[in-house]
Amino acid sequence: MSMEFDEVVPVEAAAPRPVDVIEAPMGDVVLKVEDLTVRFPSDEGPVKAVQNLSYEARLGRTLAIVGESGSGKSVSTMTVLGLHNPARTFISGSVILDGEEIVGASQATMRRLRSAKVAMVFQDPQSSLHPFYKVGGQIAEAYLAHHRVSKAVANKRAVEMLDLVGIPNPDRRAKQFPHEFSGGMRQRAMIALGLVNDPLLLIADEPTTALDVTVQAQILDLIKDLQKKFGSAVILITHDLAVVAEVSDDILVMYAGRAVERGLTKDVLARPNHPYTWGLLESLPSASENLDSLKAIKGAPPSLVHLPSGCSFHPRCAYQDLVGDACLSQLPELRSVAPGRLIRCHLPDPERTLNPDAVLNDHSETSHQEISS
Ligand code: SF4
Repeated sequence: MSMEFDEVVPVEAAAPRPVDVIEAPMGDVVLKVEDLTVRFPSDEGPVKAVQNLSYEARLGRTLAIVGESGSGKSVSTMTVLGLHNPARTFISGSVILDGEEIVGASQATMRRLRSAKVAMVFQDPQSSLHPFYKVGGQIAEAYLAHHRVSKAVANKRAVEMLDLVGIPNPDRRAKQFPHEFSGGMRQRAMIALGLVNDPLLLIADEPTTALDVTVQAQILDLIKDLQKKFGSAVILITHDLAVVAEVSDDILVMYAGRAVERGLTKDVLARPNHPYTWGLLESLPSASENLDSLKAIKGAPPSLVHLPSGCSFHPRCAYQDLVGDACLSQLPELRSVAPGRLIRCHLPDPERTLNPDAVLNDHSETSHQEISS
């Protein structure tokens, strides 16, 4: 399905529809994104924010969407909530939430789905909560929008939710304004607001970025605990790989609006198969190494209006010499390199190229087993 409004945005021929879909080992699929493309008009031409993106979110699992600013992480998930201005956005592809198509859905449908089936926790709780209304009242209002209950019942539910997210004295706190809460408590209140209607899917967009480190850990633990309690699917948008390792089951790495690597988090972080993922991991600071040894990925993400030819990562990639012209002229397909593992790269043997030590260890273990047997 597609929706296009009064601005005609020139679009190039659609890339082949990705056919690979990860079969995650557990949990019903609650969100299925297929071949999603999102573009915005600009004076210089269409901004290709998301291109041919496919992924799934499953109940009881956390999917981390990772990438630098401008990689399309937030834009793709905002589509799930129908938050783009339809008059200024071109959207094509399909986003199915619990069996209902979101792309092209009416505002009435989106109002029914938001909060009841999908909710979002934004990065900055200070600007997400309304400063003029009491915290409990804002949570109660979200509950009233989807339940035929009295105000007293909704207020009681708000207090229960504040209690559930670990806010002390929830009765008293419910009657306070957002500015009377600390940053960590405001984010807890936002999580309470997100979960008040027990949605199937919670999208957390950089939920810990504005918080100090100790509070970050508490909020991540809270999200994990609540996911177990509610059994919901969680999509975590972040650029922090330490957070990804801590809480996610599956990972989708995005670069310049496209998926470049997908798989189980433990596999991808242990043995990245795409040069961009490898670069992100290499650039992590280590407590045991001198700060001078930090390895940044050279260059900067490209303009989404004027994307590089071929592989969008080629101007920054240290491995393109191993491939040659294809990196500059052909967009790599998202291809399967192992069960449940997809990458978008022309490297013929990414596992051996990027993880030579791990491959060597595998071989020595195999030889050892062969010798022993
Ligand atoms: Fe690097 Fe080429 Fe792979 Fe792109 S396709 S990530 S430029 S090796």
